[in-house]
Amino acid sequence: MLPTHQFTVVSEIPTELEALPRLAANLHWAWDRELAAVFDRVDEQHADDSWRRTGQHPTDLIRRTTPQRWNELAADAGFVRQVGAAVERLDQAIDGPSWFGDRADESALRSVAYFSPEFGITEALPQYSGGLGVLAGDHLKASSDLGVPLIGVGLLYAEGYFRQRLNSDGWQEERNDRIDPNALGLVDTGVTVHVDLAGVTAAVRVWRVDVGRIALYMLDTNLAENSPEIVSITNRLYGGDEQHRLRQEIILGIGGVRALRALGLEPQVFHMNEGHAGFLGLERVREWVERGLTFAEAIEAVRAGGVFTTHTPVPAGIDRFPRELFEQYFADFAPSLGITFDELFELGRRADEPDGKFNMAVMGLRLASRRNGVAALHGAVARDMFSGMWPALDAQETPIGHITNGVHARSWVSDRIDELLSDAVGDDWHLADAENFARVRDVDNAAIWSVRRQGRQELVDLVRDRLGSDLLDPDVLTIGFARRFATYKRANLLLGQLDRLKALLLSADRPVQFVFAGKAHPADHPGKSLIQNIHEITQQADVRHRFVFLPDYDIGIARTMYHGCDVWLNTPRRPMEACGTSGMKAALNGVLNCSILDGWWDEMSDGTNGFDIPSFDDDHDDARRDRREASATFDVLEQQLIPLYYATGDDGLPHGWIDRVKDNWATLGWNVIAGRMVRDYTTKLYEPAAEAGDQAVASDGECARELAAWRSGVTSVWDSVSVSIAEADFGDGVAGAPRRVTATVEPGQLRLDELVVQIVHGPIGADGSIDPRHHEVIAMQHDGSGTFTGEFSATLGGRWGASVRALPTHRALSSIYETGLVAIA
Ligand SMILES: *Cc1c(COP(=O)(O)O)cnc(C)c1O
Repeated sequence: MLPTHQFTVVSEIPTELEALPRLAANLHWAWDRELAAVFDRVDEQHADDSWRRTGQHPTDLIRRTTPQRWNELAADAGFVRQVGAAVERLDQAIDGPSWFGDRADESALRSVAYFSPEFGITEALPQYSGGLGVLAGDHLKASSDLGVPLIGVGLLYAEGYFRQRLNSDGWQEERNDRIDPNALGLVDTGVTVHVDLAGVTAAVRVWRVDVGRIALYMLDTNLAENSPEIVSITNRLYGGDEQHRLRQEIILGIGGVRALRALGLEPQVFHMNEGHAGFLGLERVREWVERGLTFAEAIEAVRAGGVFTTHTPVPAGIDRFPRELFEQYFADFAPSLGITFDELFELGRRADEPDGKFNMAVMGLRLASRRNGVAALHGAVARDMFSGMWPALDAQETPIGHITNGVHARSWVSDRIDELLSDAVGDDWHLADAENFARVRDVDNAAIWSVRRQGRQELVDLVRDRLGSDLLDPDVLTIGFARRFATYKRANLLLGQLDRLKALLLSADRPVQFVFAGKAHPADHPGKSLIQNIHEITQQADVRHRFVFLPDYDIGIARTMYHGCDVWLNTPRRPMEACGTSGMKAALNGVLNCSILDGWWDEMSDGTNGFDIPSFDDDHDDARRDRREASATFDVLEQQLIPLYYATGDDGLPHGWIDRVKDNWATLGWNVIAGRMVRDYTTKLYEPAAEAGDQAVASDGECARELAAWRSGVTSVWDSVSVSIAEADFGDGVAGAPRRVTATVEPGQLRLDELVVQIVHGPIGADGSIDPRHHEVIAMQHDGSGTFTGEFSATLGGRWGASVRALPTHRALSSIYETGLVAIA
């Protein structure tokens, strides 16, 4: 190869069109079709290989536009007007009124920093691997729509995530393409921060990209002053070993906070999107120690404004670092927190985890006063999973709540579905409530079916374009399955009964076709084997026209599949799927979910807005369980789903199916959207955290100091508190009868007003104790002395139980369960 000198060449944009680079750089076009249409026009000469189809960034499109094309466009008065209108539209989106704008005066919230290891905003900016990143992208977009004052912080991966190809054996091969930040509209802020990595100083460049109103800052170690080893830290998303990940997380967390400071930003609330972002808490603790607080006081100052979201019930999905490795990177950091390395290591340790690794989720939970899982069921699973951190509480009282994920509506629906919902529900359908959404029931069945048919045709066109002209049929029931090939998602569930599967595919009058897509993590051999299993079927001559695998899954392929499938199949091993957002995107497009009752579907299925697959969670033989659940899935397909789809009226329309599509929209449309999710985060977590955070740090952390002193005091004298039952109606009796309880409390070295005393009562469960899922907690009243009284009633016949307990309380705690201290009568 010849030695080459490289330089960047751009074509000059005519002055009439000089606003185009700004329209391209702000990613609002990713969900605003009128902005995107401007670039369609620039690109018209390449109709078949358009920027949209190839995932090209409009900034790159502009750079590659020829002078001749610019002359044509500049001479087109209509186009010049279109660009002017688009600029106004973008300005309106950025500066116009919004939901949060209307409440800002009464809200304590001024700004949230949202840290995430990946952001999936558009396929043109490949900085995501799957659900976590796409969710983060949707969070930014919905925050922009709603005007929530959020700042994103992430890493800029020089090679993004890998591109996937299958070799002739169906084995996944990975390729990594370098991105060119300048072709992606990224702006170099000119800010560089420094982070120590085991004695080596890493320089970190800070890029910025605008997502509507939201600024996303992306950190990058690819600087000439760094050694090749440091440069490689931000090379790839989830590439490399434990040490590589630890370094990435240090850059994200510690470097991210430093970047915000260097930019002059002082967020009140710090939201950690999973443990990967957890080191931001350590850097904030260090800042407070530098300003004169002790480690314990600084933790209170940081925790008050901290929000932590856990995203996985799979223990292997949580980062844990061995002590020796962690020590290399944090031995020198510990003194800056005013503590020893051992004390720092304890922050990520769970007493009940014997292997002694540093657990990022554990640290994250400890550095946040507000914690949540991502669906109701996942909240319950997370409370169980982390109950060991609050051992004196019932597992279901572990202070972790949930906010169910949502998806950014306008990013995921097809233009035609957008029109259909705009006509039926209103232009703001993506922010509508249940009542407004119910109006989709009035839409004409033929109109719905025509839109669904066109989506299916486009999916078939994409498959034929990529894989062969003889594949699929636009008039056959189409089932989609696209997600990461993690084994618990069981992409191969139906392959175990191949004859039964083939009978469905090859039915003469009621055939079914499948479209699969998804990547396996490069180090996940079992995941790659699943892809190979699927690939094998796609090669069998009798069924290959009805069973395809689309390689190189990304946001673009996902979108086409949501637009074109009739059914979204979801077969995880319950309860391993924390939420599972792909089914939500499908639902918005009028695709019916056929799913195990896991994640979001457990919460939002009502039995008729899709199809439920029963699961056999209590069967501990995994192989047998898989077989039983596969049979159950076939039963649903054969007995309910396929017959309904092919039951057409005289007009050729499947009215029963279309009615179910309407049920799907009416019951799910308003609930699966990111607008609902971000409003929930804002009102339930961000605003309370902002208030608590402001209070904790006021007057140089006075409240944080007080809370730290109180917490350590209460903990050390807690043994002096005792509770006993003085009198109680605990005899057998009839349901509903009031029962009085009187308790005597000896507060020891605490004051009575530092205690809450409760009756806990409920039905006795199978294990002989009060069933925590059905218990009720009643606060008892006291008379100023140590006597507390309260009343309850057993509401159902059967064995019932009651007990009395005391917990410490302080106005600055986010909940009385925070301290984990309990005294039981
Ligand atoms: C939505 C989405 C996901 C997440 O899907 P799950 O249902 O959570 O598995 C992954 N990748 C892409 C590209 C997506 O759009």
